[in-house]
Amino acid sequence: MINIRTPQEVKLLREAGRVVAKTHQYLQQFIKPGITTKELDKLAEKFILSCHATPSFKGLYGFKGSICTSINDMVIHGIPSSHEKLKDGDIISLDIGACLNGYHGDSAWTYKVGNVSKEAEFLMKVTHDALFEGLKQAKPGNRVGDISAAIEHYVAANGCTSPYDYTGHGVGTSVHEDPLVPNYGRAGHGPKLQVGMVIAVEPMVHLGKAEVYVLDDEWGVKTLDHSLAAHYEHTIAITNDGYEIMTTL
Ligand code: MG
Ligand code: MG
Repeated sequence: MINIRTPQEVKLLREAGRVVAKTHQYLQQFIKPGITTKELDKLAEKFILSCHATPSFKGLYGFKGSICTSINDMVIHGIPSSHEKLKDGDIISLDIGACLNGYHGDSAWTYKVGNVSKEAEFLMKVTHDALFEGLKQAKPGNRVGDISAAIEHYVAANGCTSPYDYTGHGVGTSVHEDPLVPNYGRAGHGPKLQVGMVIAVEPMVHLGKAEVYVLDDEWGVKTLDHSLAAHYEHTIAITNDGYEIMTTL
């Protein structure tokens, strides 16, 4: 079932999204060689709690971290670890969810650690821009497939790929709701976008092939060819004239 949110609910989703955006902003100062992903996780949790919110992902389906920390060839769902230190030249995707007053926000962003390769810069730009290519299609009357197809075409035009089995989703009183918002699709297909729908659009993009595998920890998803991966995500609300980003300051 696809939920259509009232203006009051959109206000609550905006407030939850703002906590997520503030957490991303807060964490950036710590993204340096030497810090562990566990330390980033603890900083994120403390910050989210200080905003009177709770980390959406902690305990979700049994996840042990407060945020997902995915380095280099890890696409998504990296579990924070005290044994994993950031190194100069890494890229790290932080996927952050927060729940405030019963409503969630969900946003991922990929960050540079020190100086990164030209290839990494290219991948980050393609993935970031794929998100906004998708969002251009986010307006009432369009369909989810219009967003999906725009992302797919932009990623393919840049010689990159996305994993097949991981998608965006509705966001509301649960962090994962209907509908699915895939990074592949056919324009004009899928559920119709309506004012008050709130969805997370989240291209995950690989420099190499689309195939991925899940680590023995049953969470981390890596590219099979170990090519670099990036991930950008915003939670948005469909409005009369297009969309509004919930996960922004
Ligand atoms: Mg997310
Ligand atoms: Mg998401």
